[in-house]
Amino acid sequence: MSNFKELGLSQQILAALSANGFEKPTPIQTQAIPQVLNGRDLIGLAQTGTGKTAAFGLPMIEKLLADGRRADPRNIRALVLAPTRELVNQIAANLKLFVKKTPLKVGIVVGGVSINKQTEQLARGVDILVATPGRLLDLVARKALTLTQGRYLVLDEADQMLDLGFIHDLRKIAKLVPKNRQTLLFSATMPKQIAELAGEYLTDPVKVEVTPPGKAADKIEQYVHFVPGKDLKTQILKQSLTNNPDGLSLIFSRTKHGAEKLMKHLDHVGFKAASIHGNKSQSQRERALKAFRDGEIRVLVATDVAARGIDIPGVTHVYNYDLPEVPDAYVHRIGRTARNGRDGIAIAFCTPDEIRLLRDIEKLMGIEIAVASGDAPADQARSPRGHGGRGNGQNRGNGGGQRQDKAPRRKRPAREPAVTGFAGDELLREDRPQNHDRRDQRVTGHGHHDGRSEGNRNHEARKHHHGRPGPQDSHRGRSDGNRRQDMRRTGKGGGRQG
Ligand code: AMP
Repeated sequence: MSNFKELGLSQQILAALSANGFEKPTPIQTQAIPQVLNGRDLIGLAQTGTGKTAAFGLPMIEKLLADGRRADPRNIRALVLAPTRELVNQIAANLKLFVKKTPLKVGIVVGGVSINKQTEQLARGVDILVATPGRLLDLVARKALTLTQGRYLVLDEADQMLDLGFIHDLRKIAKLVPKNRQTLLFSATMPKQIAELAGEYLTDPVKVEVTPPGKAADKIEQYVHFVPGKDLKTQILKQSLTNNPDGLSLIFSRTKHGAEKLMKHLDHVGFKAASIHGNKSQSQRERALKAFRDGEIRVLVATDVAARGIDIPGVTHVYNYDLPEVPDAYVHRIGRTARNGRDGIAIAFCTPDEIRLLRDIEKLMGIEIAVASGDAPADQARSPRGHGGRGNGQNRGNGGGQRQDKAPRRKRPAREPAVTGFAGDELLREDRPQNHDRRDQRVTGHGHHDGRSEGNRNHEARKHHHGRPGPQDSHRGRSDGNRRQDMRRTGKGGGRQG
């Protein structure tokens, strides 16, 4: 089906959609909306950015309007749970677009802000409440809220709620909403505990899926730099950021302290940077996100928790400065780029003690991430059969940046990194040189801007490079790069991500 009307939405909702520029349903919307209108429980396997808020929000609003009732004081009719404040705000903002010309009220309940205002808001009754689980239970405990009129329960980003330790809260809340409700669960991946939760709290759910679990959007090119330690991570990162002055870069750090330290360093050396992590207040986080969204700052350093689900369409690069402990988190992280039909680049750094994490990620995603520079420690290298494997972009022929050389590679200790450049970066540059120049461009990436002739630099490159083609070489002659160039020039995303 190619339009919202065919999905069974009413004129009122259709008007709100066109007022907000929603012309065509996304795949998750096409699949989910008719099922939710039919009253089915639903499991949606989809990441943020696929349009899932409207996928559950539109039919839910439609049914609430048709039902015509209002929530009693301190009660709700629909409850949407999400893992973080940012995500709650984002979902509520989306829903508010659709209820603007209706009597329905959307409320927000999140931790970290005054509870009194939330109590006041709830005192009047709320039709759709979007909430983080912890604060919601606080309010229930204070008797500021009951959920006895709840007819719809949406668990959004369920796997992330699990990661954040909300599973017990979810169970508690699911028991507080009456059984004769409709339950919708969305998750990018389906870990065992979430599948169990779904089995317990959903009734005969239909399953819709737009991105197979554990598989990142095909539009994301992924690369890894093997480095001996943090210093080289920072050095490569800075050079890559310098090479992409027009990019929007999201950098993931494992710890709050690490994120802050890195942000301060980047800021100190002249990058417009901000950070979001658990030690920042809600207003600081919101300011940082707004500045990043508006392009006032180009670099945002974040921890997983703070960055969960944020939807910033223009992110061109995601850097895994530290690899995540949980492989699923990698999928979420890189899903912050390549949104709304654009392409994106994910660059990871891997020190010897992170190699296990990298292999776990590759196993989960069923791919081999292309090596941009350095070598894995000898005992942790992939099996020779693996080289030139599917890599990322597995559906795009040659496009994933995977190694094209199948010959056995010479092993080199990780202490002695091969610094070859910044995979894929030059594809985003407006002034991208012709193909035959690109290699030169690339190898000067690490501060080799020293006025030497191209010939010398090429020689230097070969020395560093062991004569191997890097990932970039596989882009040669690829039309994708040109397409991306065009998209950036015209500012068109070329359709939505499904
Ligand atoms: P979500 O995955 O729900 O976070 O949505 C991602 C972004 O896509 C949000 O900014 C939505 O407003 C937008 N969006 C969702 N569905 C559509 C659609 N059918 N057409 C255009 N934009 C959409």
